[in-house]
Amino acid sequence: MSTIVRFAPSPTGLLHVGNARTAMLNWLFARKENGKFFLRIDDTDTERSKPEFETAILEDLGWLGLTHDIFARQVERADAHNAAAERLKASGHLYPAYETAGELDRRRKRQIAMHKPPVYDRAALALSAEERAKLEAEGRKPHWRFKLSQSKVKWRDLVRGDVEIDTAHLSDPVLIREDGRFLYTLPSVVDDIDFAISHIIRGEDHVTNTAAQIEIFEALGAKVPAFAHFPLLIGAGGEALSKRIGSLSLREVRESGIEPLALDCYLAKTGTSDTIELKPSLGALASEFFFEKVGRAPAHFDPVELSGLNAKLLHALPYEAVAERLKALEVGGGPAFWDAVKANLAKLSDASDLWALVAGPVIPIIEDKNLAIKAAELLPAEPFDEATWSGWTAAVASATGLKGRALFHPLRLALTGREHGPELKKLLPLIGRAKSVARLKGETA
Ligand code: GLU
Repeated sequence: MSTIVRFAPSPTGLLHVGNARTAMLNWLFARKENGKFFLRIDDTDTERSKPEFETAILEDLGWLGLTHDIFARQVERADAHNAAAERLKASGHLYPAYETAGELDRRRKRQIAMHKPPVYDRAALALSAEERAKLEAEGRKPHWRFKLSQSKVKWRDLVRGDVEIDTAHLSDPVLIREDGRFLYTLPSVVDDIDFAISHIIRGEDHVTNTAAQIEIFEALGAKVPAFAHFPLLIGAGGEALSKRIGSLSLREVRESGIEPLALDCYLAKTGTSDTIELKPSLGALASEFFFEKVGRAPAHFDPVELSGLNAKLLHALPYEAVAERLKALEVGGGPAFWDAVKANLAKLSDASDLWALVAGPVIPIIEDKNLAIKAAELLPAEPFDEATWSGWTAAVASATGLKGRALFHPLRLALTGREHGPELKKLLPLIGRAKSVARLKGETA
């Protein structure tokens, strides 16, 4: 059986890191198994679905490198969904119910007051043909419920192990609203069947849905795919990541300067028994993916850890990998500048701020005037290289008797106007003699 997985976002908001992890785990498994990754846009909720969110989803997945092999939109598959609904009606699996939302709510409240589980009582199944006709004559439109088997549904989950859910404890799910539109469940199952999905990999918030969905696969005479439900990614404080709040959207993460590979590594490894560390590519991450490594406890999304990973990634990048982007940031200095500053970057755009230390204008801070003047006098002629710094500061030390912080701190403040920054032995040749002398004299340069 060939492996086909699907990632099925609803285009009702921006992808957040939790959705991205679902996409990632699907993608890694597909790649590992030489299978296919199907991107399905679950846009049956026509009120909330927006084309701009679909565009954003495609862009964000592209940014992460999670390419898809197959693409479909659910709204374009209405014929298949309708045909399946007709089959389920004909086989008695789908039945009309006429209760209004208010009636259902009152019934639920009564059940709760009587300490009974608020499960739909199937009153609609008891209606005679005449009673139904009467309700319809009154103008009531039915919604359609799937008749659960009220038995134990079992599957071997690739993350959770053996799972058993008794559908007697569930309400018969509504598959079609009274306005004729489908809810998520039936189109999802029909598309999973028609696209021959072999593995459904998603968050554990869908475990209960799975029991009903397995019964629908069976009612439609289809093979039931394998399931893997992993714990959700939650915020550092334990809060759910919701796309409706738009918190931690991929957009925000991307705009904060996180490199896609850093996020890829983070998403692939967080919540698994592997260490969260950098890997050279998505392919490398895929080769290490096993469901057995996915833990049962919720995974925490820790932006600080992600930033650390991002910094490490930047520090290891060769100049050629960033040359174009530095150019776009109007950062000069070529490989020598990159080599001087990369260890100081949390995000690539920080290079632009550090470039100002070289290009100027820098407003020097003169902490020790005598030292600065002596240092300016002793600055050798160009050309400068990385050895210039040690020779020069040794000469300044012997001329002034200063050493350690008393020597280096005023020099850094004079040359860069800042307390901290990249190694001066690397910056000095980039700043050059003229600007260095000017800054040591307290001139903005
Ligand atoms: N559109 C559904 C969601 O975003 C898909 C769930 C599923 O994977 O079946 O929750």
